[in-house]
Amino acid sequence: MKTSFFEMRFFYALFFKLSLKQALFLPFIIDYRLMKSFSILFFFLLTSFAFSQSQSIDVQNITAHVTINPDEKQISADYRFSFLTKSKLDTVFLDAKNLENIKFVNTEFEIYNSGNKLFFIGNFKKDKSYTFDFSYQVKPKQTVYFIKKLPEHDNSAQVWTQGQGKYTSHWLPSLDDMTDKIIFNLSYTFPDQYELTANGALVSEEKNENLLTRHFEMKNPMSSYLVAFAVGNFKAVRDTTDSGVPLKMYLPEQYNDYFRFTYQNYNEIFSILEDKIGVAYPWQNYKQVPVRDFLYAGMENTGLTIFSEEFIVDEISYNDQNFTNVHAHELAHQWFGNSITEKSSVHHWLQEGFATYFALLVEQELFGNAYFENQLFEDAEQLKLASDRGEGEKIMSKNASSLTYYKKGAWALHALRNRIGDAVFFDSVKDFLNQNAYQIVEVDDFLKIVEEKSGQSMLDFKKEWLLQTSFPAEEALSILGKSEFIDQLFKLKLKRGKPLKDKILLIKNALLSRHNAFLGPEAVLQIIPEKGSQREDLLYLAFSTGNIETRQFLAKNLKQISKDLKEKYEDLLKDQSYVTREHALLNLWMNFPEDRRDYLAQMKGQEGTIHKNIELLWLMLKVTTEKSKEARKAFHQLTDYTDSAYAYQIKRQAFIYLFQIDKLTDQSIINLSKDLNHSVWRYRNFVKQLLTELIKDQNHRADIIKLLEKDQLSNKEKVKDILKV
Ligand SMILES: [Zn+2]
Repeated sequence: MKTSFFEMRFFYALFFKLSLKQALFLPFIIDYRLMKSFSILFFFLLTSFAFSQSQSIDVQNITAHVTINPDEKQISADYRFSFLTKSKLDTVFLDAKNLENIKFVNTEFEIYNSGNKLFFIGNFKKDKSYTFDFSYQVKPKQTVYFIKKLPEHDNSAQVWTQGQGKYTSHWLPSLDDMTDKIIFNLSYTFPDQYELTANGALVSEEKNENLLTRHFEMKNPMSSYLVAFAVGNFKAVRDTTDSGVPLKMYLPEQYNDYFRFTYQNYNEIFSILEDKIGVAYPWQNYKQVPVRDFLYAGMENTGLTIFSEEFIVDEISYNDQNFTNVHAHELAHQWFGNSITEKSSVHHWLQEGFATYFALLVEQELFGNAYFENQLFEDAEQLKLASDRGEGEKIMSKNASSLTYYKKGAWALHALRNRIGDAVFFDSVKDFLNQNAYQIVEVDDFLKIVEEKSGQSMLDFKKEWLLQTSFPAEEALSILGKSEFIDQLFKLKLKRGKPLKDKILLIKNALLSRHNAFLGPEAVLQIIPEKGSQREDLLYLAFSTGNIETRQFLAKNLKQISKDLKEKYEDLLKDQSYVTREHALLNLWMNFPEDRRDYLAQMKGQEGTIHKNIELLWLMLKVTTEKSKEARKAFHQLTDYTDSAYAYQIKRQAFIYLFQIDKLTDQSIINLSKDLNHSVWRYRNFVKQLLTELIKDQNHRADIIKLLEKDQLSNKEKVKDILKV
């Protein structure tokens, strides 16, 4: 643990029973030997503050009026913190990062701001309630993200939060320890050209000139990492679930037409989950909002899921990447994680394993058994592979990968269900949730209930599934092997590498099967490396199935297109999948140079996904194919898409294409340098890698140094680091 100079001085004061003021004015010189002999005590003092103080106080309420200033990227607030003491105390703290201009209203207590925590020092009596009122300002370094407006849409700027892993105390003083549950009642003031949504029930709102204020109330306590808000040009569709829970589903207004396919099956998803879980939805309402440049796929803030705009889809992109799984996963967390919350990450299974498994159960209802079994099979394959490589991890461990917490976690539940039967399984889940609602839980709390209900010991299950690093593949396979679809899939997979003549019937059956969405790609995988007329016939059949997944697999993997299949292949440009169209366009362009202009004419004006997968490819091909005025326009458009205001998915693809055709200009490099501190780390790494790659070329290196000298690049220190100058 690392601690700041000022925090050390504070503990020094505590230790020597000096007043804080005295300590701050003491020359801070501690003899090394003295330090050493006291270090254990310091450590003790530190840790006693670093962990939960829920043993000594009971935080009743955090009430705050938060003002969001998107232009200044600033948060300010009037804040109230109320708690009840469980014992006599001399210090109480709040996690609070980098607060400025803190002003207290009448307090007899001494206040100390370490930059990380606010300490309240004085004589707190036992069983007494205390309230602190203060105001502050903060420019959050993380947790609140201010997203620029898009060049083509006014008011498209966004502000949103990500608490998990990022700490809410960067904008709202609270207790970062997830085992401290608090009732948050928050109000927000924001510029009225935007919409704002937040946790809890909206109880009132008022307008004051160009500012709108909304007051939200919550009934039940939650951990601080689940506090959230989102501001943007959102429009909501409202509905109520069959069980009476109010729903609000938001979209940025430019995507109004995308509602139906983005939120496809929203009613069914909700009722299937309520039905499987068997416990009423634990919060006042449920809202979902997609945002730009989100750090993950989705985040289950209490009653308010924030998710990546990648899942905004129309009827075509629905087939490429739909929201169903993430939708169900985040909703399941409202029970598993938000109502019951893990004691520590050792018990992460109770959140991620359960959310993953219950989302899969929703998909099983919506998409069928073959989908469900195929998913379990693919996950098992991945887990077995990791396990065989010696990379297996225990589910019950502190820092496991998401493969372990999510996929192995879901598999553990499937295996448990198989061992104890459906009735006991679902009954145990229900009792577990009911008995522990809004509380902190451990894995054993759940297993104890299972033991009571099943009359079976859970020791073996715990040992084999939760505490073993390797994946119990045999048990998994024996559970899966019971189905007809899996039988068909296994038989087909076993034919890999066998001569084509020995498996023609099997491959034909796979392509024509009602499960060809899962069997078709495997069949095509085995046809492609073959030779001769039988291969051509089977490929022709694969194209003719009309199955989207099989055809997408062809578009991605059949790189050499024979004259005989050309016409069939060209049909892929019209498939109900933007991913298929993108791959098909590129492949046709490569295979048939004489037809390039025709293909470009045919695909002109198609945007593709909201991150423009077809348009970006089209622009790149246009630049490469022609030397026309239109081609120059295409080049400028492609360069414009590297502007820092665009979603990182668009910029990344534009940078890749410009790099591939070696047409990155000074302007693109200036834009690239701006993203060296982008908040999405995967993209930030990409930017770093691209710059590293670029400077291997002496001309680019010289250009970049020139831009640096002319002071035109952002994040200059980072650029210098990469250049090693
Ligand atoms: Zn999750």
